[in-house]
Amino acid sequence: MMKALPNNIISLLVVDDDIVDLEMVKRHLLKSIHNIKITEATSVDEGLALYDKHQFHIVLLDYRMPQRNGIEMILELRTHIRDYGTAIVMMSSAEDDKLATACLEAGAQDFIPKSEITPRRIINAILHAQTRFKLEQDLRNSYIRSKDLAEKDGLTGLANRFVFEEALQVAIANNGRNEFKLGLLLFDIDNFKKVNDVHGHDVGDEVLKAVTARILGALRGNELFSRLGGDEFAIMITNLHTGIEIGAISKRIISSLDKPIKTNHLEFKIEISMGMAIHPDNSCDSKELIKCCDIAMYRAKTIQGSHACFFYSEMQVEFLRQYEIESMLTSAIEAKLLSLMYQPILEPNSMQLLGFEALVRMHSNTGEAIYPDEFIPIAEQSGAIIAIGEWVLIKAIKQLKEWQVNLGEQLSMAINLSPLQLNSDQLLTAIENAITINNVDPTLIEFEITETAFLNVNNTTLERIKQIKSLGCKLALDDFGTGYSSISHLLLLPIDTVKLDKSIMPGADNNQDSSKLVTAMITLIKSLNLNIVAEGIEEERQKDLMIEHGVMRAQGYYFSKPMSVQEIEKKYF
Ligand code: C2E
Ligand code: MG
Ligand code: MG
Repeated sequence: MMKALPNNIISLLVVDDDIVDLEMVKRHLLKSIHNIKITEATSVDEGLALYDKHQFHIVLLDYRMPQRNGIEMILELRTHIRDYGTAIVMMSSAEDDKLATACLEAGAQDFIPKSEITPRRIINAILHAQTRFKLEQDLRNSYIRSKDLAEKDGLTGLANRFVFEEALQVAIANNGRNEFKLGLLLFDIDNFKKVNDVHGHDVGDEVLKAVTARILGALRGNELFSRLGGDEFAIMITNLHTGIEIGAISKRIISSLDKPIKTNHLEFKIEISMGMAIHPDNSCDSKELIKCCDIAMYRAKTIQGSHACFFYSEMQVEFLRQYEIESMLTSAIEAKLLSLMYQPILEPNSMQLLGFEALVRMHSNTGEAIYPDEFIPIAEQSGAIIAIGEWVLIKAIKQLKEWQVNLGEQLSMAINLSPLQLNSDQLLTAIENAITINNVDPTLIEFEITETAFLNVNNTTLERIKQIKSLGCKLALDDFGTGYSSISHLLLLPIDTVKLDKSIMPGADNNQDSSKLVTAMITLIKSLNLNIVAEGIEEERQKDLMIEHGVMRAQGYYFSKPMSVQEIEKKYF
């Protein structure tokens, strides 16, 4: 696009290292064009610098220049960042057809040998260049238009069926080694035919557009959203870790349609039926995968209201379980569904009680205990973990004070923190308040964060960790040995303690290698002056191994399972 300059002045940049040629060109131009503004540069770099600062209609460019030649400059001018649509005319002292072609191919609109330069020739070249440039642009625009017509759905602007099926095929083919999972969602609007029949197709079209807009608002942008035809839509999501993730997307889509759609002074309550299938779990063939979705969609149709069904019934069960847990989590605190269990931490040799780790549980209305491994990830996804984490730390610190009074002043409390809590502003205040209200020694509170959580540590979360430490609390790296077991984490983070995960404790088979691994880890951690807690001690042998290596804190079923407050008090009071 040509950018307009005031009074139709033609703004021209001439780039030529040969001062004599430069002057000659300028003379010709000034003689024949009265409304021209010439800016000159004697090298490509100087030319590019000027180009970045000012707007030019034309660049007149010499081919042969020291350091960088004219073609290099054309290529830079035609990059996305710099292509403002300026016409380019190339000049050269050589009359070389090949060179002329190369310049045109690189993106110039015309080429003139310097020997042919006359005022008339230059003006013609400039005019031709401008015309050619405009033609090229028109051609490109019409290409884009016809491409859109072929690939996009005219009503909604979404990808059409052809593009969608092709993209699905390509995505499946590219996933030859099944490195990721791909989710396919297919849905249609319940009773959409009625909208068309009662209100006419124009209203039907408006509803389809409004539904599209709502759903686009619920997507993250990395999905391929398509209208397959009529009221049938499809969404493809690639690079998933677990197939169940698409369940969350289906829920977002369904709730985006909660509020009625208003159009043409009418209100429509839109309900959809959605089928979900996963590659490679359900199929490695795109057509078959669509069929799986279809089958699931028809199952969803048998249920009243908006509904999404997985193709596999096991997935459906898992999905419903997640859904159930998620809704329990939203009211877990008020409905008193949460409780804390405490697992004793002991000195393994003397068996002296040193403190506890607080472990959260949730109970369904029927009394079934739900374990954190199941509900914490869901609470992290829904954000409920912030409130739950705060509830845990307030309760655990209060409990610590009570037990310090009754069982010993030096008892400690370990509290697990989710990385999401580190993003929340209220964490620090909650900890500070709990410490003050209960008047406990902060050095006896140790927060545990898993190593995987540390992988996402950014400056803000690191700052928050430091603030927690500045209150006097201790920090432990939980589950060491399961994730990356990275020494750099041990060095970079302000941790006091490393908790060796139960999975690295040598098992009943008495494997020599795993004993060596634990020994090496203990030596390494000790050499960094960090404390150690051994987790998951289930057998005497493991306890003895820890004693042998001077591990001063241990926890596990060998000593005690996590217990309720009443059980703890019965045992220790
Ligand atoms: P964790 O912090 O590593 O906690 C240790 C887990 O190992 C606990 O499982 C505990 O019951 C179990 N355990 C203890 N001794 C033994 C043993 O000898 N053998 C075996 N096989 N297991 C043992 P639990 O309570 O199910 O907790 C699982 C994980 O859930 C915890 O792992 C922790 O990461 C997370 N979690 C628990 N409570 C909270 C909480 O309040 N907040 C957050 N963010 N996460 C929590
Ligand atoms: Mg822990
Ligand atoms: Mg652990």
